[in-house]
Amino acid sequence: MFHSSYIEISRTALQNNINFIRNEIGPQVRLSSVVKGNAYGHGIEQFASLAQECGVDHFSVFSADEALRLHQSLPRPATTLIMGYIDDPELEWAIQNDIEFFIFEPDRLTKAAEVARKLGKKAKIHLELETGMNRTGFDKATLAQASKLLDDKKEDVELIAICTHFAGAESFQNHERILTQQQNFQDLLKQLINSGHTPNQLHSACSAAMISYPETHMDMVRIGIMQYGFWPSPETYSHYFSQHSLKKDPLRRLINWKSRIMSLKSISKGEYVGYGSSYQTPRDMTLAIIPVGYGWGYSRSLSNQGKVLIKGVRTAVVGIVNMNVMMVDVTDIPGVQKDDEVVLLGSQGDESITVASFAELSTQLNYELLTRLPSNIPRLVID
Ligand SMILES: *Cc1c(COP(=O)(O)O)cnc(C)c1O
Repeated sequence: MFHSSYIEISRTALQNNINFIRNEIGPQVRLSSVVKGNAYGHGIEQFASLAQECGVDHFSVFSADEALRLHQSLPRPATTLIMGYIDDPELEWAIQNDIEFFIFEPDRLTKAAEVARKLGKKAKIHLELETGMNRTGFDKATLAQASKLLDDKKEDVELIAICTHFAGAESFQNHERILTQQQNFQDLLKQLINSGHTPNQLHSACSAAMISYPETHMDMVRIGIMQYGFWPSPETYSHYFSQHSLKKDPLRRLINWKSRIMSLKSISKGEYVGYGSSYQTPRDMTLAIIPVGYGWGYSRSLSNQGKVLIKGVRTAVVGIVNMNVMMVDVTDIPGVQKDDEVVLLGSQGDESITVASFAELSTQLNYELLTRLPSNIPRLVID
C-alpha cells in the first residue's frame, strides 16, 4: 500500500448527513458544500466527487488553489464559490471558468470588472457585507462606493448574491451579537436595494446558524462541519436535542484513520519505553509499534495519553509519540499479530475513538484536528 496509514471516508455516512441537512433546510434552499481546508481533512478531490454523487451541485472553498483542485477533480460541472483569497492573476482563471467569488472591498470589485472586460465575460460575484464579524465585507461606509461601482461596471459584473458570515453562531454567548448581525444585514441590504441592486440570492448561514437560527437560511446555506458528521459545538448539539426527541445522533462521521501494526515486542517489567523516561513498564508487556507519529499528524501531546483500537479493544499509547512511530500496549489483547489493523480515529467493532476525545486530549478543536490531518495520507472511499 506504500503508505503507513490511510483515511477512509464513508459514502453512506455522507448520504445520511446530506439527507439530514436537506431535511433541515427544506426543498427551496440550496446547499453549498464547504470544502475548504482539504474538505476539513477528508481530501477535497475524494470528498467532492462523493458529495456530487450524493446530489451536491454547489461547493464553497476558501481560495483559488482549492477551486482549481475542485475544478480538476469533479467528474461533472458544479457551481464553485471562492469565499476568500484570489490573487490578481488567478482572477482571470476564475472568471474564465465561471468560478464565483466573494467581493469584500472596492479594489477587488474594480479589478474583477477590469479582468472581466478584458475577457469579454462577466465576473460572477457575491457581495459580502460586514455585519459585525469584523473580518471582511462592505460596511455602511463603503457600501455606497460598492453600489456606485456595481452601476458603473454592470456590463462586466453580475451580482449573483449578497451574503455575510456570522461570528460564532455555535455559542449562545454570542446570541445578541448574531441577532445584531442579522439586523445589520437587513439594513445594509435595504440600502443596496434602494440604490437599485437586487441580487438573485441571499445567503448567510454556516452549520451552527442553520441549526440554531433557521431564519438565516435565506436562499442558500454554506455547510462545512455538519456534512462531515460533526456538530459545530456541544451547545449546538444539546440545543438541537432538547428541541427534537431523539435517541441518538442523527449525524454520522465519515472518517476513519487507520494503520497497521509494524512490529511486536515483548519487554520485561521495569524497562523504559522509547525516548527518555516518561514510561516505565509496570509489568512484563507486549508492545505494538505503529508506523504513525507527529510527522503524520498524530499529536505529540498524545504521548502516554492517546488511545487506539486493535481487534476491537481500546488500548493506550505508551511513551512519547515519535516523528514516525509510536508504541501501544497490546499485552491484554489475545491473538494480536503483526499487520493487524489499528484504528487511530473512528470505529472498530463496538468501540470508537471520537475526534472530540482525540481533540480534547490533544487540546485541539475538532475543526483544527481534522484540517491538520496531512494531505498526503491517502483517502479511500468506502461504503
Ligand atoms: C467555513 C465557513 C463556513 C462553514 O462553516 P461550518 O461551521 O463548518 O459549517 C461558511 N461560511 C464561511 C464564510 C466560512 O468561512
